[in-house]
Amino acid sequence: MISAAETATKAVYIGLGSNLGDATRNVQQALVLLDKMPLTRLEVHSSLFLTAPVEASGENYVNAVARIQTSLQPEELLRELHHIEREFGRDRPYRNAPRTMDLDILLYGLQQIQSDSLTVPHPRLTKRAFALIPLLQIDPFITIPGAGPAHAFAADVADQEIQRMGT
Ligand code: ATP
Ligand code: CA
Ligand code: CA
Repeated sequence: MISAAETATKAVYIGLGSNLGDATRNVQQALVLLDKMPLTRLEVHSSLFLTAPVEASGENYVNAVARIQTSLQPEELLRELHHIEREFGRDRPYRNAPRTMDLDILLYGLQQIQSDSLTVPHPRLTKRAFALIPLLQIDPFITIPGAGPAHAFAADVADQEIQRMGT
């Protein structure tokens, strides 16, 4: 039977990225930590992908997308994600700086959110191969609220370097 708490959960997609330190290990560890967040379980995650930095300098990134089920409200979830980022020693010296861990809320159920601290769906999701391609790997037919079927944007990012890793 589905409990009352279970019916209140939302399918939420988290984008993970690291290009500082042992990026592969960082992403693998972050996936474990997502599952340990309160009121949350990790349902599925994409392969890990190696991608060239976009609008940024530094090493290549390791990226992935995870689908979680959570009863956390969007702002609570953002706080938990920042907490995990801090566990990796993430700091923000300047925009698009290399980072040990970046956790973005790509989609939160079917909700569209616009607040001081959150824009969901993530406004650059459809423009970034490193977010869009892993998302499509786990849910090829997903629709982005306000934008339409995600696969329609794949052609727009086809020129961006992205390579599926063996892990
Ligand atoms: P980008 O948004 O281009 O991916 P970034 O991830 O490098 O940039 P950060 O420095 O990690 O940017 O985050 C800056 C702020 O973005 C966060 O403190 C948060 O309040 C805000 N933010 C807005 N929308 C989102 C979202 N969907 N997911 C995560 N953070 C968001
Ligand atoms: Ca980001
Ligand atoms: Ca971020």
